[in-house]
Amino acid sequence: MPSFHLKTYGCQMNVYDSARMENLLKPLGYHSTDDMDSADLILFNTCTVREKAKHKLMSEIGKLKELKQKKEVVLAIGGCVAQEEAEKLFRKAPHIDIVFGVDQIDQLPQLISQVREHKTQISLTAFDTDPTFSLSYLIPDRCPTSAYVTIIKGCDKFCSFCIVPMTRGLEKSRSPQEIIGEIQKLVQGGTQEVTLLGQNVNSYDYKKIYFPELLRKVDQIPGLRRIRFTSPHPQDFNDEMISCYVGLPRLCKHLHLPVQSGNNDVLHRMRRWYTVEDYVQKINKLREAVPAVSVSTDIIVGFPGETLLQFENTLHLLETVNYDFVYSFKYSERSGTRAARDFEDDVPEAEKERRLAILQRLQDRISLHKNKMLEGTLEEVLIEKQSLDGKLQGRTDSFKIVHFEGNPSCIGQFKMVRLDKALPHSFLGTALDQQRSSKVYFQQPASKI
Ligand code: SF4
Repeated sequence: MPSFHLKTYGCQMNVYDSARMENLLKPLGYHSTDDMDSADLILFNTCTVREKAKHKLMSEIGKLKELKQKKEVVLAIGGCVAQEEAEKLFRKAPHIDIVFGVDQIDQLPQLISQVREHKTQISLTAFDTDPTFSLSYLIPDRCPTSAYVTIIKGCDKFCSFCIVPMTRGLEKSRSPQEIIGEIQKLVQGGTQEVTLLGQNVNSYDYKKIYFPELLRKVDQIPGLRRIRFTSPHPQDFNDEMISCYVGLPRLCKHLHLPVQSGNNDVLHRMRRWYTVEDYVQKINKLREAVPAVSVSTDIIVGFPGETLLQFENTLHLLETVNYDFVYSFKYSERSGTRAARDFEDDVPEAEKERRLAILQRLQDRISLHKNKMLEGTLEEVLIEKQSLDGKLQGRTDSFKIVHFEGNPSCIGQFKMVRLDKALPHSFLGTALDQQRSSKVYFQQPASKI
């Protein structure tokens, strides 16, 4: 039985694509192995978002030259590096057999058999130009409690710091029938929660069916308990989406809306075509409609030309919005982007680090303060896994992480949990049935006496 070793780099979209690759290979008799040296097929699903990651990847590919000389193994490179470099990869690493782009994943089995049969190199990376796309269903061997489902790929926004439109192509939406079919299958297999996935998820447009309408359709799927989505763009976040938060019971009360900066000039240079004022107004409107909603964001510090005052505007935005949590990054120049072409990366590294540390300290204080207000409340938690300390870990509807004692057999179930202690990034809690079982434990010895 042939084996494959699949290594995935980068974002959730790549994780999803890798799962699809596995789904395509298993019916051909391939089994997955952790041991790269013994594999008959080595696949790298790559990421180019950071320049450094690309260099690391090229050095890993280089090391496989020796293995290829020793044994017959097919080496296939997919994902964003493949998309960006195409045949150039063969010049850099002539031992590569297949270079395939993000629109060619479904053709992987044919590409592998062609290489095996004709002992040739193949590069296939052209974007297909259809504004819609179709995917085979992703139904893993064991359906996860919480699953990702791709609804749109690519991006039309061309933010100046981002390589995605160049490596993933323009936006293409998947049909509601396919999306719903995949979710129904996942739910039948035990999935409780789905996260609708896309680089720009709320730009979804399948033949004039837009994102709110898709959300309403997904909300009707029997047996599905929770719906999330990532990542939306502020420009496409509208009143109809707010009404979905009000009217759709399964849509979780959490919005991750990347703002990137709290200064309008910086936003303009980033080619983010909204203002801080528009953004705050949208959040306020959502909170008026759904007071319990939690809100998170992404921030880049040290974008080219960011002055101290402009950075302070971002700090001010964190306090104004009062985010539940923030993912924050230092700006890192990415060749091939407009920012790399048009601006000098002029904020010194040490200053970027200083700004990041200040921002993270402030956000930790805000997050802790917000979390403390929930201490003592009861929340329904979907249990996802056992964490390293042996406690169970799950998330509330509002995406807060909770750790509590419990039996690992409960993974995949919902439990009511009291939030006992707030931390900046999570809670320690007690499951309600845990409280009941401890009462029973103490009562029994007493009755014997
Ligand atoms: S909207 Fe997101 S994916 Fe698209 S270019 Fe901007 S940052 Fe990149």
